[in-house]
Amino acid sequence: MPSRPREVRCPGYRRRDPTQSLLYELLREHLETFLAELDAHPGLALPRFVKRELRGFLECGVLAHGFARVHCTSCARDSLVAFSCKGRGFCPSCGGRRMSATAAHLVDHVLPETPIRQWVFTLPFSLRLRCAFDHELLAFVRRIFTRVVFSYLARQARAKALPSGALGFRSGAVNIVQRAGGSLNLNPHFHAVFIDGVYTRATLLGPARFHELPAPEPADVDWTLARIHSRLRSLFERCIDTEQEFESRETNELLLHLASASVHGQAATGDGNGRALPGLFTPEPDPRPERDSPKPSCSLVLLRIGRRATRFNK
Ligand SMILES: [Zn+2]
Ligand SMILES: [Zn+2]
Repeated sequence: MPSRPREVRCPGYRRRDPTQSLLYELLREHLETFLAELDAHPGLALPRFVKRELRGFLECGVLAHGFARVHCTSCARDSLVAFSCKGRGFCPSCGGRRMSATAAHLVDHVLPETPIRQWVFTLPFSLRLRCAFDHELLAFVRRIFTRVVFSYLARQARAKALPSGALGFRSGAVNIVQRAGGSLNLNPHFHAVFIDGVYTRATLLGPARFHELPAPEPADVDWTLARIHSRLRSLFERCIDTEQEFESRETNELLLHLASASVHGQAATGDGNGRALPGLFTPEPDPRPERDSPKPSCSLVLLRIGRRATRFNK
């Protein structure tokens, strides 16, 4: 009896169904009522960009809101691919896809074949709310963090008596702002991958040569953190408003209230408004202004990633 040819199965495209998730059900049930209630109170409306993100999530990946028809030449099947919202702040699907695409781009086209180390820098509670609202300030903080780590790497290279060549010691980094902490609390902080060494050139147009550096010791991390801290302190003393000026400048009171509650781990609405939420995370017991703090309350976490960054599947 002739054997039947094996069926060639193409994995094809499996459509996700966002409408089955708890988050989707929650928003579908309550979003418009919630927004209408807020709109009924003058001064409590959420900004347009927040409403746009939330409503966009309810349309993301749902065929009723538009789709493309794609054809697979291997199995000759057609599939419907729903349009996505391309949101940057709320939609888990679009956020996850952007994260994977960015990681694949960095690994394939940006990061060199050198050791890479991740540096994570977090801010004290007293600075988080301001940095979350003021992107120029956040950019300053990011620049300080990046430059100090570069100067640490150059210092290590000098300590090893490496020849600095025609252009001095150069390194490289990709520094990404993450706005949420582990409990989805508002916590702007930085995840950066740094080349774990320095490049030099013997002559101006000569080839770049890489020098690997030893892993940082706790004393090196202390040195780096103390330097970041002192620069941050002078930045904040020099060029930002007082707490009162900052709060009067921010016009959307509701957003500021929600953000402040999120930073400090407190309930923001209802009867429990202002109540601490210790189950989610434990904030500093009494957030004090940074200038009163004798010790740096920022923190640095380091992680060696290896000779190659881990590759994401595209
Ligand atoms: Zn196929
Ligand atoms: Zn989306």
